[in-house]
Amino acid sequence: MSVSLADLDVEKFALVTGGTGYIGSHTVVALIEAGYQVVIIDNLDNSSEIVLSGIERITGRVPHFVHADLRDADAVIKIFKEYPIASVVHLAGLKSVGESIHSPSKYYDNNIGATLNLVKAMQTAEVTTLVFSSSATVYSSSSEPPLGEDAKKLPTNPYGMSKYIIEQVLTDMALANRKWRFGILRYFNPIGAHPSGRIGETPSGIPNNLMPYLMQVAIGKLAKLSIYGGDYETPDGTCIRDYVHVVDLARGHLAALRFLEEANGVHDWNLGTGKGTSVLELVKAVEQVIEKPIPSEIIGRRKGDMPVVFADVTKASNELSWRAEHTIEKMCVDHWNWQKRNPGWYQ
Ligand code: NAD
Ligand code: UDP
Repeated sequence: MSVSLADLDVEKFALVTGGTGYIGSHTVVALIEAGYQVVIIDNLDNSSEIVLSGIERITGRVPHFVHADLRDADAVIKIFKEYPIASVVHLAGLKSVGESIHSPSKYYDNNIGATLNLVKAMQTAEVTTLVFSSSATVYSSSSEPPLGEDAKKLPTNPYGMSKYIIEQVLTDMALANRKWRFGILRYFNPIGAHPSGRIGETPSGIPNNLMPYLMQVAIGKLAKLSIYGGDYETPDGTCIRDYVHVVDLARGHLAALRFLEEANGVHDWNLGTGKGTSVLELVKAVEQVIEKPIPSEIIGRRKGDMPVVFADVTKASNELSWRAEHTIEKMCVDHWNWQKRNPGWYQ
């Protein structure tokens, strides 16, 4: 069902950048289900327009879609002229740590350049509310888990640094002008998919992250999982991360937008479960869901990996009344459901 602009509740009109991406598409679903009208801007660099029909199948609504790059200043200004946007959820960005090390300028240009264009267009259009996708990678490796929002920040790669710089830009803007309402969300390790299996993560090429790699081994596309290090000082020797269901994460954006309706300034929240899961524990959880063993081999450590990372989620719980609800088992069930339905790149 398509909606005419005249019918719209302006207060609930949100621009979602990167809205056809993995986390963006789930966030769009959460917003639509909460009564928001959504316009997506995405350059489809790492997603497909097919996602829009997945969103429609779930929600019964087609979000407005603008195929454009956020670095195209005129295109961004035009969106604010064409739609009665009241708030922005900014997820668009490049996200590969490895690629960022090899092509730092690409990451600074895309992530920071896009954000500067966006906030400049917001300023012109007098739109003052923005929720930004940051990452746990901004925290220093010397910070002890559980990581609270005040933990020391020291990104160790250009991707993390681009997020950290954007956080600083938003903080400085909010200091300079009290009208701004910024919410910084630091995601831990998003996995899972919408339970319908209609939207999910579609990594291009060989995945770098554990869960999509595991899924491709499970479906037979990759032969075996290489486990990076079995000699860490953790109970089973493998690294521990805070995996969070993408549907829970999506709800976090909604909670942040609602918080910003009542508060100006800059606010930050960790979005994770507050619980750590080791590589071997995740492998076991996947094996239980797919009901067969995952071929795996422990090899050397991956450079730069922190042994244990998990969030202190007290602040999000207290301020946003947000808590992750889904278990690791549910994350594996939903991710596998998506993987089985979508074995290739939007095939
Ligand atoms: P994704 O690649 O699936 O989605 C990002 C979307 O942004 C893609 O659809 C891409 O085409 C679009 N995009 C990129 N640059 C753009 C530009 N200049 N103009 C317009 N569109 C552009 O990634 P995701 O996993 O959904 O991540 C969303 C955000 O969350 C990113 O900013 C990422 O850095 C951040 N994040 C992701 C994770 C994770 O593990 N997935 C963890 C922490 C933070
Ligand atoms: N990992 C692994 N094999 C892989 C991919 C990841 O053993 O093929 C490990 C990695 O070393 C880390 C954990 O799984 O300890 C999570 O890695 P991911 O890249 O998904 O998240 P991040 O390390 O960025 O938090």
